[in-house]
Amino acid sequence: MSYVDEVLAKVKEKNANEPEFLQAVEEVLNSLRPVIDANEDKYRREALLERICEPERQFKFRVPWVDDKGQVQVNTGYRVQFNSAIGPYKGGLRLHPSVNIGIIKFLGFEQIFKNSLTGLPIGGGKGGSDFDPKGKSDREVMAFCQSFMTELCKYIGADTDVPAGDIGTGAREIGYMFGQYKRIRRLYEGVLTGKGLTYGGSLARTEATGYGLLYLTQELMKDHGESMEGKTVVVSGAGNVAIYAIQKAHQMGAKVVTCSDSTGWIYDPEGIDVDLLKEVKEVKRARLTEYAAARPSAEYHEGRGVWQIKCDIALPCATQNELLIDDAKQLVANGCKAVCEGANMPTTIDATEYLQENGVWFVGGKAANAGGVATSALEMSQNSERLSWTFEEVDAKLQTIMVNIYRNISDAAKRYGFEGNYVVGANIAGFEKVAEAMEAQGV
Ligand code: GLU
Repeated sequence: MSYVDEVLAKVKEKNANEPEFLQAVEEVLNSLRPVIDANEDKYRREALLERICEPERQFKFRVPWVDDKGQVQVNTGYRVQFNSAIGPYKGGLRLHPSVNIGIIKFLGFEQIFKNSLTGLPIGGGKGGSDFDPKGKSDREVMAFCQSFMTELCKYIGADTDVPAGDIGTGAREIGYMFGQYKRIRRLYEGVLTGKGLTYGGSLARTEATGYGLLYLTQELMKDHGESMEGKTVVVSGAGNVAIYAIQKAHQMGAKVVTCSDSTGWIYDPEGIDVDLLKEVKEVKRARLTEYAAARPSAEYHEGRGVWQIKCDIALPCATQNELLIDDAKQLVANGCKAVCEGANMPTTIDATEYLQENGVWFVGGKAANAGGVATSALEMSQNSERLSWTFEEVDAKLQTIMVNIYRNISDAAKRYGFEGNYVVGANIAGFEKVAEAMEAQGV
């Protein structure tokens, strides 16, 4: 049995109840075969893959808080410190009822390679809770965040582990958490990223994941002799990633005609109105029905369905496993040329393979959405030197990082004879640096 198969079998046995984590490990290890097979004896002796698939440390804790009726609620908090070979643990906090240890481990595992791809010194981590901020008052969200940080603050720090936002955690939540960290630890330091601009946040961090996704997509198109100008783009999601992806796509001359939330989706053939979308989602925290009500050109549909709309480029920006095999078939039948993931693991393994086999240029989230965490690392740099850079400076660095990521993953794929397979390229390029650092640091 090959070393990769041995480790896959062990990981499956050990984590049988964690399907998302297994899916992520399977995708990464399978695509690393050419590198691992070439160094099989050495890596087996060093148990390198077993070490990479086992978090360095994980915390699970009680988060009690009082709701507006005076009732005590109890949620579960998590922080997985997955790998610190190349820098302090770095990764977001997801607040969503679906959160469990398997989801946090899948996200933490992906984060190791994503962070490596940015070229910046950040290790991989992830955390969150099954708390649902949807429908809660500001005071309830504050009570939850304070309780969550009261425990989490024992394990994190500007040079140890630096959390950030993710689904359900935006500027409001980061602000409440930062305040609580400072109160308890008496340290004014860059312990979280995605902070507000008045207390150490970085310009362009809010926009970074969506903008970065488009910078990479543009580079991909250029490499294939195409441009963004005049392209029809389909986006899923209506959160921070989707909003700024749509905005940048429009600035590049493309037209985005869809977006979606957990209950339905919008088809707007005139192009999504970003200001209206922001107003509905960020200010009112309302459903997309409100977008449709205010916009005559928009159709609202219940359920899911954005992938059935004809497009040149598809950008899944909602959540994991949202683009399935039938969606992939539909995209191919409609002539879609490129799929770049703004979310983490939105495309299932069979759907990814189908797209690749049918000539769609596919870039996975760990490369395509790395602009968010890369800009978080830029926020850490600014905090360390107690300076803040201009929007233009940060945005220019982000562009350079995304172009470099595209070139690195494309070169890595070529080096191993998988030209055009950006999934293999991203995993290899991300893995090589982490593996080398782990080997150098011993066991
Ligand atoms: N949650 C984002 C991600 O999935 C950003 C993490 C960060 O900025 O640390 O990469």
